[in-house]
Order: sequence, then C-alpha cells, then structure tokens
Amino acid sequence: MDEKKTKNVNDELDDSKYSMSTHLIYGKNVSNKWDYSHHVTAPISSSTTFRLDSVERGAAGFMQFAQTEKHGKDSPIFIYDRLGEPNKDMLEENLAHIEKGEMAVSFASGMGAISAVLGILTKTGDEIITHTTLYGCTISLFNNWYPNYGIGVKPIDLRNLQTLLNTITSNTKVIYFETPANPNLDIIDIPALSELIRDVNQERDAEHQIRIVVDNTFATPFCQRPLELGADFVVHSLTKGIGGFGADMGGVAIGRNEFRDMLLLYRKDFGAVLNTKSAWAILTYGLPSLHLRQKQQITSAKRIAEYLENHPKIDFVNYPGLESFKGHDLAKKQMIDFDGNFAPGSMIYFVLKGETPQQSKVNGGKFMDYVADHAYTMTLAVSLGHTRTLIEHPASMTHSVVPPEELEERGLNAGGVRLAIGLEKVEDLLMDLDDCLKAI
Ligand SMILES: *Cc1c(COP(=O)(O)O)cnc(C)c1O
Repeated sequence: MDEKKTKNVNDELDDSKYSMSTHLIYGKNVSNKWDYSHHVTAPISSSTTFRLDSVERGAAGFMQFAQTEKHGKDSPIFIYDRLGEPNKDMLEENLAHIEKGEMAVSFASGMGAISAVLGILTKTGDEIITHTTLYGCTISLFNNWYPNYGIGVKPIDLRNLQTLLNTITSNTKVIYFETPANPNLDIIDIPALSELIRDVNQERDAEHQIRIVVDNTFATPFCQRPLELGADFVVHSLTKGIGGFGADMGGVAIGRNEFRDMLLLYRKDFGAVLNTKSAWAILTYGLPSLHLRQKQQITSAKRIAEYLENHPKIDFVNYPGLESFKGHDLAKKQMIDFDGNFAPGSMIYFVLKGETPQQSKVNGGKFMDYVADHAYTMTLAVSLGHTRTLIEHPASMTHSVVPPEELEERGLNAGGVRLAIGLEKVEDLLMDLDDCLKAI
C-alpha cells in the first residue's frame, strides 16, 4: 500500500491549539499497526465508519460494493459498517467454509437472514412451499406479513414428495423447511427433495427456477450440511448452537456466489446488520468450540432420550438418534458429523402421558413448572444450543402464534415439551429429570 495512505493526519499534528473538547473527539487513538493478519485473536472493529483518504478512494469503495464477480478478490475498501467491515468478513468466510458454501452473508438475527433470503428470491405473485412444522416466528412472517406483499405460502407435509409435486405451480419460487424441524424434529429428505426439484427446474427458464432453502439451526453444520445434499441456501440463527453461549444474536445465509451481491444489497437497504462485537464473539468463541460442544451435547442427548423413552410417565419421545423415531433412518443418512459419524443433534421433543390431550398438556405444564422451580441443571427458557440445558413449552411459547385448533396440522402437541441439551454432566441432568418426573 502507498505510504501516504497508511499514515494518519493526526500523527504529525500539533493539537495544542485545539480545545479539550475537540481533543476528546480526536485524541491520539489512531494506529498504523491495526493489523488483522498478524493478530492471533482478531481485534474487534468498533468503527461504524471508515476513513477514506480521498474522494476518489471513497468513490471506488462505493463502486466496488456488492460487485463480487468484478471485485471480490480485491482487498476491500471499507466504507460504513452496514455495507461491510472486517469482523463480519472473517466470520462469513469461516461460516461459508464449514457449511461447504461459496459465500456467506451475516445478519442481525436468524429472522434477519431468513427474511433476506426470501426477500431476494420472491416478489408479488410468487409462491413459497414450506413444511407444516416450522419455527413460530417463521410461521408468523409467512402468516402475518407475506399476505401484505402478495406472496403466497403453502404449508404441506414435505416428507411426502408426491404432495410436493402436486403443490408446485408455475408461480412456485422457493421450497423452505427446517430439518430437524422446530420443535417436533420431523426429518425431511434433503437429497430426494433436491433431486425432484432439479428435475422440475429443467423444464423452467432461469427466472423461474425453484430454490431450496434449509434452516439448519437445529442441526448446526457440525451435524448436517444441506448444501452438500443439494439445497441452494442454508440459513442459521447464530444465536443458537453456533454462537453457543447465549450471549449474542446473529443470523447467516450461505449459498452460491451468484447470490452474494443481492444479499449484500438487501442487507444494506433493509438494515439487519450483525454488529461487529457479536461477529467477533461468534468467530472467537462460538465456531472454535462448536464441534466439542456438539459432541458433548449429542452424547448427553442420546442418554436422555433413551431415559425418557423408557419412563412410565412419558407418552413418546422424538429424537433422531432413537431407533423408534420415525425419521431415524433418514437422519442416519443425512445427519453426519465432520468425521463421518451419525450426529443426531442436541434437541429432544417429548409428550407426557395423559388420559386426553388436554390432560397431557396439564401434565406437561406441571412438569415444566416443577422444573422451573426445582431443577438446578434445567432452565425454563426458549432458545437452544446453550451451555445450559433449556426446557420450554412450544405451544405456549416459541410457537404461540399457532392457534390451538391448528396445532395438530402443524405437527405440534398441546402438551409437547422441547428440551435443548446443554453442557452439564449428563448424570446430573438425568438426576434432575428423574426427581422432577417423580414429583409430578
Ligand atoms: C431461533 C430460531 C430462528 C430465529 O433466530 P433468531 O436469531 O432468534 O432470529 C429461526 N429458526 C429456528 C429453527 C430457530 O430455532
């Protein structure tokens, strides 16, 4: 780099002629040694805006923004945090790598990432086909906002590919799902669905291609990489297993380079920008510990799912690692960790027994209230992929947007309990679970 460009005007300036209040703004807090490539742990960028040296350089920065093909290999001219900065760039590079994508664009939250991907893929008149069971706020996005934009959303059982084929119309633009689904852990066959869509797409022109978007939050890239299995996009809530400590919100969309510029432009204009401190924390703490945390959580989840399955007060348990689980064989094929092992994840869904669904709901509620008051190792709270084991009641919390009469068609049980395994010693979790189940 040109010597003049790396120097800061403040270096040689005699600031004695300025007032204290002005000095407080400028100080000497500049460094020519801000050197990302030689820091062992990355520094945190705390600047919303970047010094541009000259109007010419500023103009070049604006021209290069969101021009991946032309300028993707250039060293970036940073302009303003909402357009891009080094911490997000580093995080995105790493996230693209672990999901086997060509690029990643981060967002302020999982919902920010989901609405951005769907925002660049759809317009008025288009249709999205989704699985019936989805995270509550994603259902809310589809039910409460998309009708205003004239975008149709059709929830169907995506485990049945013939139903999917019958539902696709000339307006279909996106197939959207979670696998395992939140909260009941339905498993959708990503390779088979992708193959079907590939065939359908062969008959359609470039503008009418159907894209497959998978929310991989429950599995994390440690357990499953949907792009390798044929999906076009992966979205994540970084708030969950990837962030891993429950300290930062974030989201990401990962896919092919051809979509990067649109996602950057969308993020710039709709504004769901991940803050630098969270990008740094996820990069520094979340990603490096992901495989260790996941391994531990999976080992515990298996033990706990087996324990629950054999408990006389439990009606049924959904966990991809249980042989009795409907999606078990499919999960074994597509939930594979970095080392090639079956990796069924850290989420468990179960229902307590009751003479009627109403009674099982009452029992589930009693159980969770008891846990909230008595269990040291389980916390009544939404979210997942945390150091602490979290327990919640989807029908009245994460999925409260679903009216009671629609719970069944959405794959939910009125009394369903969602358990997100943390990093505690599994014997302690089993002890607390046993005490709580005994007490109710
Ligand atoms: C939490 C969650 C989201 C939303 O993520 P936020 O970071 O809370 O916006 C989306 N999908 C799934 C499956 C989730 O669990």
